[in-house]
Amino acid sequence: MVPIIRFSGEFGRMIPLAVPNLSGREADYLLDCIRTNFVSSVGPYVDRFEQMVADASGGEKAVATNTGTSGLHVAMLALGVLPNDLVVIPSFTFIASANAASYCGASPWLIDCSNDSWTLDPELLSAELASNTEQTPHGLRHRPTGRRVSAICPVFVMGCPADMDRIVDIARQYRLKVVVDAAAAFGASYKTRSTASLGADLTVFSFNGNKTITCGGGGAVVGDSTEHIAHVRHLCTTARRDENYTHDAIGYNYRMTNLQAAVGCAQLERADELVSAKQAISNTYNDAFSNLPFTYPFPSPSWASSSCWFSGFVLSKNAPFSAKELRILLRSRGIDARPFWKPLHLQHSYQHVPQTAMPICSSLFCQIITLPCSSNLKANEQDLVIDEIYKIFSDRISLS
Ligand SMILES: *Cc1c(COP(=O)(O)O)cnc(C)c1O
Repeated sequence: MVPIIRFSGEFGRMIPLAVPNLSGREADYLLDCIRTNFVSSVGPYVDRFEQMVADASGGEKAVATNTGTSGLHVAMLALGVLPNDLVVIPSFTFIASANAASYCGASPWLIDCSNDSWTLDPELLSAELASNTEQTPHGLRHRPTGRRVSAICPVFVMGCPADMDRIVDIARQYRLKVVVDAAAAFGASYKTRSTASLGADLTVFSFNGNKTITCGGGGAVVGDSTEHIAHVRHLCTTARRDENYTHDAIGYNYRMTNLQAAVGCAQLERADELVSAKQAISNTYNDAFSNLPFTYPFPSPSWASSSCWFSGFVLSKNAPFSAKELRILLRSRGIDARPFWKPLHLQHSYQHVPQTAMPICSSLFCQIITLPCSSNLKANEQDLVIDEIYKIFSDRISLS
């Protein structure tokens, strides 16, 4: 047999941050693809995957895509985001949310997050729309730039839903479309409702390798409108209208392959188990660190049951060391601790787009430490992470 290529070196000795958990029927389903010769972008696993994603997320229909980013792109296009438009996006997100708007020729309008959820602040959103926009026959106009505002893209940060009832109300009031970047929120819920049944026009998931449920790479766009879903599917399949290679628009090759979907189906069969494992890991850390000085947990707003994509804590500003120092210490002890997203208003490409003041996310992001939280993290590994953190702290301060 040909040897399997493995990662080695530093990574091999670390307790990793988050790795896939492929101990279900992933290998069986992949073999099935190869034996039946269905490896490309049509096949029974793609159909099954789409059905499973729609069912589990509470939406009517789903279109599988090759990445979450491409899903966001076509979702915005299908909802009518046009060149020169503005799309309201929280600054505290992964850059793909804003890139998707840029691929449409639009620009993000960046809004700060709320301190108690890290998601789009409805209060601020409402105030910004009220003071900076006016309705015109061509839609909502952003007065400072003269651009049309076409959509709002709430982001479910770390798998924690934004306050969707309020955001959807605001969107209706201003006649804006809502596309949710729920990339890492598969398995989350909001006031007992699933992520794709919260009133958004379209909801997008990622199934990238670092997400809780993975296809290796992949995404899905979920919605209730047959028209929007058909449009998304059309754009993902090069806008091909018939078998004679007639294409009626500039489309994209964004489809998911049967190979990716095969892995995804096996993952979705265990979605509850994988998400519960993530939530349990997060609870264990939160309990363990509840008495650790200078730290506080990731937010858990009353409306949300987070999918707990990541676990870790926030280091207070008055701690005797910085989050960066702590991460370096942890990594030297074999624990893969990482920072979290640098907000978009601090990124080269998005420094000059319309934006609010950013007091919350600007100070927050450099205080976050993410810790090993793979769904297959063993209890003794998590204990070790906790012990090492207590040791590092007690070297610096006297813990009572
Ligand atoms: C992972 C992620 C994406 C991108 O998904 P890909 O599948 O990697 O393209 C977009 N937005 C957020 C918030 C994410 O966490």
